[in-house]
Amino acid sequence: MTSTQSPPHWDLSLLYTLGSPELHKDMAILKALAESFPLWKDKVLTGDLSVPEFESLLADYTHLNELADKLMGFASLSFAEDTKNQAALSLMGQLEELLAEARNSTLFFQLWWKDLEDSAAEPYLEAMGPLNYYLKRMRAYRPHSLSEAEERVINYKDITGAEALVTLYDSITGAYSFSSDFVPGSKGEKLSREELSMYVRSPLPQVRKAAYKELYKVFSEDSLVLSQIYQALVRDWRLENIRLRSYPSPQSVRNKANDLPDSVVQCLLEVCSTEAPRVFGEYFAKKASLLGLSKLTRYDLYAPYSASEDEYVPFETGLGLVNEAFVEFSPQLAHLALEVDKSRHLTANILKNKRSGAFCASILPEDIPWVLMSYKGRRQDLFTLAHELGHAVHSQLAKEHGIFQYQATLPLAETASTFGEMLLAQKFLQKATDPQAKRDILFHILDDAYATVARQAFFALFELEAHELVDKGATSSELKDAYYANLSRQFGDKVELTEEFGWEWISIPHFFHTPFYVYAYSFGQLLVYSLWKIYQEEGESFAPRFLKILSAGGSKEPVSILAEAGVGPLDEKFWKGGFKVIEDFLAQI
Ligand SMILES: [Zn+2]
Repeated sequence: MTSTQSPPHWDLSLLYTLGSPELHKDMAILKALAESFPLWKDKVLTGDLSVPEFESLLADYTHLNELADKLMGFASLSFAEDTKNQAALSLMGQLEELLAEARNSTLFFQLWWKDLEDSAAEPYLEAMGPLNYYLKRMRAYRPHSLSEAEERVINYKDITGAEALVTLYDSITGAYSFSSDFVPGSKGEKLSREELSMYVRSPLPQVRKAAYKELYKVFSEDSLVLSQIYQALVRDWRLENIRLRSYPSPQSVRNKANDLPDSVVQCLLEVCSTEAPRVFGEYFAKKASLLGLSKLTRYDLYAPYSASEDEYVPFETGLGLVNEAFVEFSPQLAHLALEVDKSRHLTANILKNKRSGAFCASILPEDIPWVLMSYKGRRQDLFTLAHELGHAVHSQLAKEHGIFQYQATLPLAETASTFGEMLLAQKFLQKATDPQAKRDILFHILDDAYATVARQAFFALFELEAHELVDKGATSSELKDAYYANLSRQFGDKVELTEEFGWEWISIPHFFHTPFYVYAYSFGQLLVYSLWKIYQEEGESFAPRFLKILSAGGSKEPVSILAEAGVGPLDEKFWKGGFKVIEDFLAQI
């Protein structure tokens, strides 16, 4: 099949045109809204805001936020399609100032609402039925809030404390460059971390090994100072969140932000700690034998197995394939995915200054989301397309929840996108004619499952341990030993480890930037496998329940959204169902 058409490009003029009168008019309206919003302040602070007044205050607040999102959305899409576009850059600069003003003008409302006594908040909550979840979430931190004076001191001290430490970590590690001496034909040029990390997927075993050795050599040279930064951040986290804010555990701070019960997260990690080594151990043993090795070393984890190049797939064929995969599951899902292309909200062509990677941006609930990617016709591009269109379906289904509640919260944010990839993978498996092609797809699925479910869950398990160890005064080398022991538990006797991997933990920015974030990756991916298991068992009748989960967007707590679609409880059996799906794929290799 040949194609003369290049992949589509979106039409941003459906939003605005740079420099147009409409754009300036909306900016002026936003400015006026930001100026008039504080007129509510007196009523709010004196405590005589009636329920109908609260409703109109919220209407103003909604309008202001919608306009801010639309304007900034347009500016960032314009910038993403052309990162050299000076007009887009200068609009972003202007808008940042305007948005900061708008945000400051509503701050008093947010603070008042958060601090309001439960009895005083009740009548407003009752009146605002559909917005309840959003309004309650704004108040969720009330039990952990301190006095205004204390909060102010923490804010100031964070700038020179925790935030400065994170910046210091970024500055030190961001300046690293790596030797390329191990690369065949190298002329001694220096590599960035990103460039270096490509070599861990080299077909040459000695290159993979040398790339890892170089990575950890550079990091370990600074191990003492990087460990000290980490220890200080962990102590700061504990002092603030446990001692001052009375959270029950260091991790429960993050669970609160994700609106997940501590017990659900604990159960997920417990299941991963036993199932992941067993299931992926088997995968690594298989991978070793297919690569002709007696045993996999940690250097070989991402070794490629197929040297063959992907067959080029023209865009229309690719989109057709994604549609075919989606339609079999649910015609409605497929229809909403195609809408993105039909409405000219999809850019997939190759442009010189386009932002790399891919994203789906939901700008306003009633608008079809915008999807950006660079389609090169490889199989990976088809997975990216299915993933991003999945996101677009998710927000379209949830649009009636309005700007504050239509987008899924973190634990459910990847449900539609990952499920979309699963549907496509299944389609590929059905269509694969020779065993090699089929195996390539299966390796793609299993590598992804390892990197997202197992690796991230063991990161999370390490973090739990590290926070306890630091509290007990552990040294840098004790933390390294704990990390090495964590890897040993993860790989068992299936993967041979070497000393330098003990330093991997100081190279993971999430540990420093956003403590306890990583389990969300395992949660999202394993959730989709568990849903896939239900789909395998129930067939067609599962689709409406799946769409129900998506339609809830971010309008309720994640566990309730699932329960209302008859999914759960999120117990041991549920998560083990997810691992069963991984095992089924493994059995097909
Ligand atoms: Zn995604």
